[in-house]
Amino acid sequence: MRVADYDAVVVGSGINSLACAALLAREGWNVCVLERERELGGAIRTAELTQPGFHHDVFSAWHPLWVGGPAHAALGDDLAARGLEYLNTDHPTGTAYPDGESVFLTTATEANAAELERHSAGDGDAWRDAIAGVGAQAELVFGVLGTELWSGAGAGLALKAYRRLGRQGLAVFGAEAVQSSRDWLTTTFRSERAHGLLAPWVLHTGLGPDAAASGFMTRVIAFAIEAGGMPVPRGGGARLVDSLVRLIEDHGGVCETGRDVERILVAHGQAEGVRVAGVGAVTASRAVICNVTPTQLYGRLLDPADVPGEVREAGRRFRFGRSEMQIHFALSEPPRWSGDERLGQTAIVHLTSGLDGVSRAVNEAERGLLPAEATVVVGQPLTVDESRAPGGRGLLWIQLQELPWRVKGDAAGELETGDGTWTESLRERYADRIQARIGLHVPNLESSILGRLVLSPADLQTANVNLAQGDPYSGSLALDQNFLWRPFARQPGHRTPVDRLFHIGASTWPGPGLGAGSGTLVANALLQPPAAERLARRFSRLMQRGQA
Ligand SMILES: Cc1cc2nc3c(=O)[nH]c(=O)nc-3n(C[C@H](O)[C@H](O)[C@H](O)COP(=O)(O)OP(=O)(O)OC[C@H]3O[C@@H](n4cnc5c(N)ncnc54)[C@H](O)[C@@H]3O)c2cc1C
Repeated sequence: MRVADYDAVVVGSGINSLACAALLAREGWNVCVLERERELGGAIRTAELTQPGFHHDVFSAWHPLWVGGPAHAALGDDLAARGLEYLNTDHPTGTAYPDGESVFLTTATEANAAELERHSAGDGDAWRDAIAGVGAQAELVFGVLGTELWSGAGAGLALKAYRRLGRQGLAVFGAEAVQSSRDWLTTTFRSERAHGLLAPWVLHTGLGPDAAASGFMTRVIAFAIEAGGMPVPRGGGARLVDSLVRLIEDHGGVCETGRDVERILVAHGQAEGVRVAGVGAVTASRAVICNVTPTQLYGRLLDPADVPGEVREAGRRFRFGRSEMQIHFALSEPPRWSGDERLGQTAIVHLTSGLDGVSRAVNEAERGLLPAEATVVVGQPLTVDESRAPGGRGLLWIQLQELPWRVKGDAAGELETGDGTWTESLRERYADRIQARIGLHVPNLESSILGRLVLSPADLQTANVNLAQGDPYSGSLALDQNFLWRPFARQPGHRTPVDRLFHIGASTWPGPGLGAGSGTLVANALLQPPAAERLARRFSRLMQRGQA
């Protein structure tokens, strides 16, 4: 590899790394991205996993957070010029219940209000009010999610909120922000069908419906899905990675695979580069940006002598959330759903008995049990992008977000869980149970399977060290590790005890997902002119105004 002196070295090639490197490279920084695996992209990968011609998004698949996020706003045109194309749908999500009933969310407020009204009189207006409520506070709500909270910008946002809402309004905003999904849903909608439509979405934020702040996330997601649909890149998530890498390279940057960073080089309290296993030192004169978990940052990459003991200890105690399983199916024909024909056109269908069903499965997983009735996320990428499989075939992306890392037992009392590790046998038997559940809604599933590939929590951890304990979100999002306290209270935000060393990735604020929020926040901070220069510019503007 070219061992040069870079402006910035980025450790890991997840979406936050690539967005950060692209933003810096475009402004003339000489950047180097180092990835330990054979492919770039971290939790974004597209592969013919099951059969030739079936292009599966192996991990993440749905890009509303990217398309609605700040990195896409800044880089979208450059990426489109390098071949990235987004496809979307008017039928982003729905829930199918065991009794054959279903409920849907589209990209139109009136259609959604009518759909909820169909289930219970009054819920249509409740929906309109809920959407209007988030819309009226959009600047604040999305401001919170896109701001470095421990910074001047964070303080500015708090001041703006106070000016706009007043003392009482701010108190209400804060209370609503920490409310649980259950409390918000049950005080807003009468119909349990409406609860079951939205409750599964909190799983996609790493929470459960009884967790603090899950109500806030439910409202944000409801608004975001209605406004943004369920976009995916044509051809698979890897096309986003390809275009970001091309953009970085077009600006002179370097992206290397098979490079395991084993140490951050620190001198006089300042990061000066990294040491790559089997290669040696790669130096960086302006920043080292690490997309890793706190456990790796403080437990492996930094010499204990370079970090205060209490920060190192807090990093060691960083907690991971529930584990996850992915199941990929290649089918000889499209899934034929029983019940409402809209199920076959919907990008993501949740199978659940409702709010209490999600709550129970989350609680079982958190107590170490395989849930008796998991919430099954049935992703249907072909409803948005037909190019993912040969004509007339079917392809399913299944996600199970309520699993324990160490399995103490089976809440259904069916499966032998052995020593509690994720063996191949436990993985396949659990996947069989889920396959049977889907089969109750998709009668042709069993007969049409051409290929199935299952990734257990252990497989996820093996594929990407940041998915520690099979946690797809790289760290529990319990309130003490979320918002102001992510990744952890002793060292929140993206700065570290080492000068010029920055911490990004799903473990850091604003958390997981493809929004690239942490990479963008750090890139923007690095691209800001130094304080003295900013002061001089402001002074000269004031002078000009004075002369005018
Ligand atoms: C199965 C699954 C499904 C998901 N579905 C969605 C979805 O549909 N939509 C959505 O918005 N989000 C989804 N998510 C969440 C989202 O994909 C992740 O939060 C996001 O991709 C994480 O990006 P990241 O920048 O934190 O880095 P990651 O993608 O975690 O990548 C980090 C990279 O750093 C590398 N690395 C770590 N340590 C080192 C080292 N020492 N040296 C060199 N390299 C190193 C790792 O190998 C890895 O490639 C999903 C996640 C999973 C796992």
